[in-house]
Amino acid sequence: MTAIDDSPEALRAGHEALRAEHEALMQFLYLAPVGLVQSGMDGEIVMINPISAQLLMPLSPDGDLANLFAALEDVAPDLRLQCEQYPRTNGMVFEGLHIHLRHPRAGDQNRATPQILSLTLLKLDDTRLMAVIHDVTAEVRRERQLRQSDAWLNAILTRISDYALAALDRHGRLCDWNDSIARVTGFGEHVIGSPYSVFYPPDAMTPEHLLDRLREADRNGWSMDEGLRLRADGSQFWGSALIAPLPERDTFGLDDRDDDYAPAYCLILRDISDKRAAFEKRRQAAFCDHLTGLANRRAFFEAAELELDRAARTPRPLALVVFDADHFKHINDRHGHPAGDRVLCDLANALRDTFRAVDTVARIGGEEFAVLLPSTGPAQALAIAERLCTSVSTRLVAADGAEIAYTVSGGVAVLESETATVADSIDALIKRADQALYAAKTAGRNRVVAWTPDLPQHENTQQRSRHAG
Ligand code: GH3
Ligand code: MG
Ligand code: MG
Repeated sequence: MTAIDDSPEALRAGHEALRAEHEALMQFLYLAPVGLVQSGMDGEIVMINPISAQLLMPLSPDGDLANLFAALEDVAPDLRLQCEQYPRTNGMVFEGLHIHLRHPRAGDQNRATPQILSLTLLKLDDTRLMAVIHDVTAEVRRERQLRQSDAWLNAILTRISDYALAALDRHGRLCDWNDSIARVTGFGEHVIGSPYSVFYPPDAMTPEHLLDRLREADRNGWSMDEGLRLRADGSQFWGSALIAPLPERDTFGLDDRDDDYAPAYCLILRDISDKRAAFEKRRQAAFCDHLTGLANRRAFFEAAELELDRAARTPRPLALVVFDADHFKHINDRHGHPAGDRVLCDLANALRDTFRAVDTVARIGGEEFAVLLPSTGPAQALAIAERLCTSVSTRLVAADGAEIAYTVSGGVAVLESETATVADSIDALIKRADQALYAAKTAGRNRVVAWTPDLPQHENTQQRSRHAG
């Protein structure tokens, strides 16, 4: 319709033509994959096509779809009023009203998301209404997922150059190749059809693990992991991999068995090597003693908890040795505090040289150190502690224009599959080691004593517990 003749005759003729067109359209729409209901102004249904009957039937408990307003009473109570108040003889009363149905979708009883219908209501003339209904559940969900993916992408894609974006099929195989994959991993087009584990170092991922991540993405909407990734040239980098289900796959048949190779997930690979370095730096700052570079108190207590927990699950002995520099006040007084610091660093080196990598060597106080020895019994712990003690007594530290000799005393305690709680155990262990240390001090220093039940109690033994400064 281009030029408009608005004489009354022309309008009437136009109206008639339109009406005829409309009827033809109705015939066509009756078969269309959209719900159509024609009713009188009172909502009494004159015509209802199979799709609307199917969509509206669950709303009518007695299965009687006689009146449109009555059928939608629960979910759209003011329908009748809106139609009555619509001022024009014909036109759209409203368009795309979303109706959230509370019943589960037919044949899909476990579905948690409610079914959503879109309802458009047309007033055809003074006596007829036409409702157009469709199920927009999938669209609404897809839109929500798209918004979610958008949020993800925005959060993740801070720089355009450091990520690779790939589509995976339902088996986790790469569906396509693009420049971003080449940019981040160096892999060429031949990776299409390979499982996404090609980006992982050999043996870093089993086929079961690969599928686990897809299932996790199905359940949670996404799955993210960090770790070593592989480039085409065999070099490795620290990366993150986010897998998210593609929103489209609901409609493009994840359940369709012919569609084995259709994109079902997106994979976003990022090179986050720089972030890992920053993470390590933060970890160092939090867990290292800055004078000596040994573990600090916090790291010591965390390691102790972990070891005690392991020991509780799989019984094994756990030894603790505490060392305290002898007459250290005297060293400071005589050579100055910086020289004292040099001595502490020398002692740290001696500890590092003596104990194993698996042991936690920590500075837990000014001139006090603790070593945690997993799977170590009393005799072995005493022997290695004595070795440290002897080695220290032969060392000289050049500072303050002098060669400073120093000694340490040590106390050993061993926890042997006792059934105390972790918190009690570490404090109990420290208390015993302190008791033994005190015995070493009173016996003349420059020696190690192992705890025995007959050692005298010492009033300061609590000072090194986790709760102390
Ligand atoms: P004992 O043999 O009985 O342990 O004698 P001590 O002098 O070592 O005993 P005390 O615990 O009374 O003194 C510890 C001294 O260690 C006091 C303090 O000034 C010194 N100290 C603590 N932290 C540091 C530090 O970081 N650097 C230096 N240079 N000295 C420290
Ligand atoms: Mg001390
Ligand atoms: Mg001391």
